[in-house]
Amino acid sequence: MIKKIKALSKEIATEAVANRRHLHQNPELSFNEYQTARFVADRLKDLGLEPQEGVADTGVVALIRGRNPESRAVGLRADMDALPIMEANDVPYKSQNPGVMHACGHDVHTSSLLGTARILTQLREELEGTVKLVFQPAEEKAPGGASLMIKEGVLENPRPAGMLGQHVAPNVPVGKIGFREGMYMASTDELYLTVKGKGGHGAVPDQLIDPVLIASHIIVALQQIISRNRQPANPSVLSFGRFIADGVTNVIPNEVKIQGTWRCMDEEWRADGLRRMQKMAEGIAEAMGGSCDFEIVKGYPFLKNHPELTRRTKAAAVEYMGAENVVDLDLWMAGEDFAFYSQVVDSCFYRLGTRNEARGIVSGVHTPTFDIDESALEIGPGLMAWLAVKELDQR
Ligand SMILES: [Zn+2]
Ligand SMILES: [Zn+2]
Repeated sequence: MIKKIKALSKEIATEAVANRRHLHQNPELSFNEYQTARFVADRLKDLGLEPQEGVADTGVVALIRGRNPESRAVGLRADMDALPIMEANDVPYKSQNPGVMHACGHDVHTSSLLGTARILTQLREELEGTVKLVFQPAEEKAPGGASLMIKEGVLENPRPAGMLGQHVAPNVPVGKIGFREGMYMASTDELYLTVKGKGGHGAVPDQLIDPVLIASHIIVALQQIISRNRQPANPSVLSFGRFIADGVTNVIPNEVKIQGTWRCMDEEWRADGLRRMQKMAEGIAEAMGGSCDFEIVKGYPFLKNHPELTRRTKAAAVEYMGAENVVDLDLWMAGEDFAFYSQVVDSCFYRLGTRNEARGIVSGVHTPTFDIDESALEIGPGLMAWLAVKELDQR
């Protein structure tokens, strides 16, 4: 089976690159992936599949039914959205949509999954179960395309026993694949604090309620929650990037606005940390005579890679790639909406190496010079097909 998949994977590599370039040239922002969804649905129809379109508006879902379609299902996910970034690469496949760019590799994920679909439809007779292809909108924008597709039932009928997601990795050399068991990526919540006092002349602090001082105490105290209440094995980050006190040297403003991000890898601690932060901020402000509005905009949950599924998937990747090409990943405090799937069904999110230092392909995701070594598309589609085959054989 590996040999067959590798042979098919060679056959479809040129097409996968052409599809990637088409998508790269025609990027669309989150929740606006209309042309992309059309393109995906058309390619799936070319394969004889019957895609379900318009899931969460721009999502596309298709089933590849094998020999015993009811026996077991595995879900394969690709995200389709681009970012509001002006591409700075001078390449023939440069974005034709100024100010919008596939700077997170979602063009690669989509074309890779289309390649996987082409391989698997040709192996249908030998597939044991059903493969569910999930092309989702808006990974980059809250509330996340994944959460909306789950609400619309993407994890039912059939319910996948496992979900697999692949993401490009500009820090992993092309030709290698990265895995991590258990906690992998962080939950992401946004914090918006407004500290209110009573402003006035800086010479008469006794007649004022200084929101700058209150806000300063709050920032320090909240960091202490992370150091004193966090179970030490729980990775967490609290960062404030905005602190606006719009007074001048001798004018204390009426209010101060603070914005930050709260990230961790434990849903209980995530909620507990938020409760403690809110109580502390409100308490400090009150004790100092002011008040604090503590607004939380909830983001994605943390991403956990199911241990057994990840071990099996990694072992299958070793069979396909060789042990020397399968690497371990570090924790990453960024967020990813694949986490929504991981909270519902066994899931594994792994990384496809796309870096090529010799060719200068080293830029990080979300930068205007991000690009990939396209030979990754000789690996991604076939590898995912193999992982799906192995996971269906699990029953
Ligand atoms: Zn991204
Ligand atoms: Zn991404």
